[in-house]
Amino acid sequence: MINESDARAKILKAIRPLPPRKMSILQTLDHFAAEDYFARLPLPMFDNSAMDGYAVIASDCSPRRIRPSADKSGPRLRVVGEQPAGIDRNLSVSNGEVIRIFTGAPMPKGADAVVMQEDVTRNGDEIVVTADVDVGEFIRKRGCDLNEGQKIVGKGDRLRTTVIGLLASQGLSEIAVGGEVRAAIISTGDELVKPGEKLQPGQIYDSNSVLLQSLLRRAGSVVTSIQHCGDDAKSLRKAFESNAKNEIMVVTGGVSVGEHDLVQSTLRDLGAKIDIWRVAVKPGKPFLFGQLGSCFVFGLPGNPVSAFVTFLQFVQPAILKMMGANDFDLPQIPAKLKVDLANESDRAHYVRGKLEKGTFAPIGRQESHALFGLSQSNALLRVDSGAALKAGETVQVQIWD
Ligand code: AMP
Ligand code: MG
Repeated sequence: MINESDARAKILKAIRPLPPRKMSILQTLDHFAAEDYFARLPLPMFDNSAMDGYAVIASDCSPRRIRPSADKSGPRLRVVGEQPAGIDRNLSVSNGEVIRIFTGAPMPKGADAVVMQEDVTRNGDEIVVTADVDVGEFIRKRGCDLNEGQKIVGKGDRLRTTVIGLLASQGLSEIAVGGEVRAAIISTGDELVKPGEKLQPGQIYDSNSVLLQSLLRRAGSVVTSIQHCGDDAKSLRKAFESNAKNEIMVVTGGVSVGEHDLVQSTLRDLGAKIDIWRVAVKPGKPFLFGQLGSCFVFGLPGNPVSAFVTFLQFVQPAILKMMGANDFDLPQIPAKLKVDLANESDRAHYVRGKLEKGTFAPIGRQESHALFGLSQSNALLRVDSGAALKAGETVQVQIWD
């Protein structure tokens, strides 16, 4: 049995990022940038109006004083043109002149402020300005948000919605992202029946395949096949062979020590290299990691909570590394522990719990088969072997939801 951090390190050492590819920007959500991106255009790209109104010379609008908007006694200025958002008409103003302007429209030459239309009374080709005007007012200056050459996305950063928007503002239609991780799911166990089919006494539904399918998709991989095998070497062998073309294979069940646990021996018979079997983690001890040809094989215990915990701790980081991410960890946030928690076992314990309004409390049965309890939880707390935590303490919890 190896400890958890050694197991993780061993897995991450074996895994290499896949070759990057170019992808339509529309497909890139939650992929990882395969290179650094720098602004090739400033934002805004040119000085433009932040309001619908009039581009003015601010000093024409003096004397500076706050006037009630009902007061129509302000300076009178002549409207000499109109600049909508769109192609720059290259307009300009001299003293006493203004240009009708709209939000996003390029500023005319000579103008140094925009008066919003609510602060103006218009009469034919003339306006009366009824508010104070400062130089620069309602002008969005070129480069005030983003300078040319500024880094906008780092290699390995996740392409979040807003980041994709920013890349689009640079005129990019294709982005270099990390490679695609194809994943096969193989569930094992004579007792398992596919949801939708009829159960015989003693049988249960194969919930892990569905759970893992969602976890794999959420982690960013593409699930290419979901297969079920009974506890017999022949069908396992066939399933392993036919799925070894994927980047990863996630097997559940059959990795423990019973006579019906044939995953490891069948993998070995096929010439697989088994790098890890049994990790000091609770739940999830029988976890297995190996390589069958170029395919990385993750053997997760059949108990649903064990499969879930080992997926998040070992499989997800591997997928993220293959996809070119620079951060493989689950997000952690501090929370106030609601109860005392001790871990007297020799393995680190991942307690399933509920993170709510800055507090964390265990929820449901803390047993590896307890899928309902797991479904009620939204965070994990890792309690070290031998640790005793007190209610009221601040702990770091991992969130996946
Ligand atoms: P195993 O790891 O094969 O010894 O299975 C441990 C426990 O998990 C047993 O109670 C199995 O019935 C259950 N189990 C195994 N595979 C699945 C699955 N795909 N979905 C739900 N439960 C499973
Ligand atoms: Mg089994």
